[in-house]
Amino acid sequence: MPCMLHGMRSSSFLLDLLYPPYCESCRKVLTRGEVLCDECLARLTLTEHGRMRDNKLEALFADIRKFERGAAWCFYDDDSVVLRLIHSLKYFSRPSIGEWIGRMAAEEMRRQNPLFFEGMDVVVPVPLHKNKERERGYNQSELIARGVARACGLPLDTLSLVRVIDNQTQTRLSKEERLENTRDIFALSDKESLRGKHVLLVDDVVTTGATMRDCMRCLSPLRGTRFSVLSAAVAGNLSSQPFTSSTV
Ligand SMILES: [Zn+2]
Repeated sequence: MPCMLHGMRSSSFLLDLLYPPYCESCRKVLTRGEVLCDECLARLTLTEHGRMRDNKLEALFADIRKFERGAAWCFYDDDSVVLRLIHSLKYFSRPSIGEWIGRMAAEEMRRQNPLFFEGMDVVVPVPLHKNKERERGYNQSELIARGVARACGLPLDTLSLVRVIDNQTQTRLSKEERLENTRDIFALSDKESLRGKHVLLVDDVVTTGATMRDCMRCLSPLRGTRFSVLSAAVAGNLSSQPFTSSTV
């Protein structure tokens, strides 16, 4: 066994020599840490949502009856570190970034509010359509959710909530047709497993909140179920006006 471990260490050392780990934002070679260099870590625009009741994310879902808590880890704009991270995660086959983001987001929430995860029962990622997941090889929100679940010691459920309509199909529709169709984007594969649970929904980015709303609408008929939301990033210019057009 010691030889095998020694061998593993040597090969990882060799890999680091050949392909040194680099910062996913500025591409500088990392001399310590993982994923981001110290400068890029310091440039993350944390929302501090964990400390605030009625923060912008909570305001976005304030009209949803069973909604409990909401927070995003970072604000994003076109040139933000967090958006570059998510871009690498989604489009450059860097799945390891996902769990790291989830862990960082969960640890930050707990630092801001030690009771943030209090009462939550299960972590559920916003699902990708199976065709999209096959194409990409993974669901980036599931990886983030995995990191969150590990960091806060909650179970992860990747099976109960499924996406039955591919977003790409949705974007071809007019705005009105999309609103008509939203009720069917997600479905429950198992109607019992999330009943009565406080579900923490996890996504990579919240922009209008429409996707999260669709998930909550799907879960809403389950008796006793409540929702909270954690996203890695939220638009920096997110309106504080809650949606009022449709109520779960
Ligand atoms: Zn950097």
